[in-house]
Amino acid sequence: MNIVLFGPPGAGKGTQGDNLVKEFNLFKISTGDLLRYEIKKDTDLGKKIKSIMDSGELVSDDTINSLIEKFLSQKKHYNSLVFDGYPRNIGQAEELDILLKKYKQKISCVLSLKVNNESATKRILGRQICTKCGLTFNKFFNVSKKENHNCGLKYLITRSDDNEKVIKNRFATYTKETLPILNYYQNQKILYEIDGMGEIGSIYKEIREIIHSLET
Ligand SMILES: [Zn+2]
Repeated sequence: MNIVLFGPPGAGKGTQGDNLVKEFNLFKISTGDLLRYEIKKDTDLGKKIKSIMDSGELVSDDTINSLIEKFLSQKKHYNSLVFDGYPRNIGQAEELDILLKKYKQKISCVLSLKVNNESATKRILGRQICTKCGLTFNKFFNVSKKENHNCGLKYLITRSDDNEKVIKNRFATYTKETLPILNYYQNQKILYEIDGMGEIGSIYKEIREIIHSLET
């Protein structure tokens, strides 16, 4: 089962992705993680990516697509992927279909989380990532506590690009480049729209029902 999580910044893709990974033994692919991983490994490609990102430029679709291919072609990841924040434009969506076909896979469903800009902004501003285990939390909506997180508060960080000005730009890019993908997946009849404004647990319940309906 390969799942694409779709929605504007702050829709809760990261949190729901974590839930899916845990329950269904999947692997999450986020381009941010792939890029950071490559930089950390300090490969030639990693060095190139770092200099592009340091200069504030966007990493090209070609580079991102080749990182995605490297990940999804691994045997242990076969047909067990959750895409978080990818594809981001029509070109990437088409390329992803080509790649999946090449490795004898397909997208099982695209889950589109719908939220309004105001609450999405609040979600982003409250977002925290644990540098030890990689889980995501939120100061307002999904507080890290003993019951849901073992690492403790000292590992929690806020992403440097989670500020209001950057968020505005990300919304604009999302509306212009990413939203049109919905039509693309609607035509393939694999699109499921979910109200992303509710409580995290009840949204996940809805997601799980969709997935179970696909399995039978
Ligand atoms: Zn942790």
